[in-house]
Amino acid sequence: MKVIDIYSNATKPVFSIELSPPLNGTSLDPIFNTVSGLMKYEPAFVSVTCSALGSARGGTIPIAGKIKRDYGIESVVHLTCVAKSQQDIDNMLMDVRYEGVQNILALRGDPPKGEKEFRPHEKGHRYASDFVSQIKRLNQGKYISFNEGEYRNGEPNNFCVSVAGYPEGHPECPDKEKDLEHLRVKVENGADYIITQLFFDPEIYFRFVDRVNNMGIRVPVVPGVMPVESFAHLDFILKQPIGVSVPEVFVDKLRKYKEDGDNASALQFGVEFISSMCNALIEGGAPGIHMYTMNTPDRAAKIFDAISR
Ligand SMILES: Cc1cc2nc3c(=O)[nH]c(=O)nc-3n(C[C@H](O)[C@H](O)[C@H](O)COP(=O)(O)OP(=O)(O)OC[C@H]3O[C@@H](n4cnc5c(N)ncnc54)[C@H](O)[C@@H]3O)c2cc1C
Repeated sequence: MKVIDIYSNATKPVFSIELSPPLNGTSLDPIFNTVSGLMKYEPAFVSVTCSALGSARGGTIPIAGKIKRDYGIESVVHLTCVAKSQQDIDNMLMDVRYEGVQNILALRGDPPKGEKEFRPHEKGHRYASDFVSQIKRLNQGKYISFNEGEYRNGEPNNFCVSVAGYPEGHPECPDKEKDLEHLRVKVENGADYIITQLFFDPEIYFRFVDRVNNMGIRVPVVPGVMPVESFAHLDFILKQPIGVSVPEVFVDKLRKYKEDGDNASALQFGVEFISSMCNALIEGGAPGIHMYTMNTPDRAAKIFDAISR
């Protein structure tokens, strides 16, 4: 099933979860324990992240296939165009098809560690918008041909495509309006819905949705939500170059709990803070909550428990 159909037919907020493949050579158990641990919240789909170039977490596509088969839940693969030619991408999309997975989060990806700028493969894509176009071309049954610039007709696919949206702007694009225009191109090229970067203030999401709508973009904008359990956890998130702001009160309180060595209160405060944000999102009309579980079901479960449905 296409995830966009889940949103289109939903009569209540859609809960979904994100998982990451384990470090190569380590157990898959945390992944499947996370899915099992969150089944009672009836996640409508599970998305499986993919590693940046140079990191060691393979298996996105087969893990997504296994989740779909074993749990009967729709799965979404995160895929990037880093270091891939268009032929590599056609081939990767065939892996997705043969695994029986129908949903793709189409990303450009980050530059490899140590490199400041994203450099596309010489026969690849510079932007996620072009990746979206390639997936839509495969939906029309047009495959890369041996003759460059030409396409070979084959069986059409029926992929559903989502793209990333950045409520506080993508860090590489200082002009937020331009960043939004780039998002519009991804949707014009065929993206069915948008999943957002994490944020810590529901107003940031609502302002983003207003700006997206004012641009004429009319697809679901799904809030991506990250549970936070401690100051160290928040600090780790903030050290990533993702351009996300955090309310001072949230930082200060978690820091205080750390100084007091009070982990239990930090966890409880983190859960209360994020669940109250989720409730505000749902009350304000968000189509659902996409929870970044980081392969840890307990925090996500506490938050799902606290969300009124
Ligand atoms: C929900 C979500 C899930 C993610 N999952 C993963 C994951 O699993 N694995 C992973 O490696 N990364 C993941 N990322 C991170 C993502 O790969 C990075 O944020 C990456 O830097 C940008 O990817 P993108 O698809 O948004 O790129 P794009 O949409 O291509 O945008 C990249 C930059 O280029 C600019 N741009 C776009 N089009 C144009 C244009 N025509 N002219 C000039 N500038 C342009 C944009 O404004 C932006 O600054 C995820 C991000 C989100 C929000």
